[in-house]
Amino acid sequence: MDPGLCATCRHAQPIVAPRSTFWRCGLHDAQPSRFPRYPALPVRACPGHQAP
Ligand code: SF4
Repeated sequence: MDPGLCATCRHAQPIVAPRSTFWRCGLHDAQPSRFPRYPALPVRACPGHQAP
């Protein structure tokens, strides 16, 4: 699965499982109404995206 912007975001926290990789958004803890814990992939537009 292509994660889209999460692949190049400093807030992304990839969680590798045996059959798939989940992408957790680190901004969720501070702004849960704006950023889902596990965003729907691929993320094509995101106001929180920041390069590493
Ligand atoms: S801020 Fe956006 S691009 Fe970055 S990890 Fe969260 S959902 Fe993905």
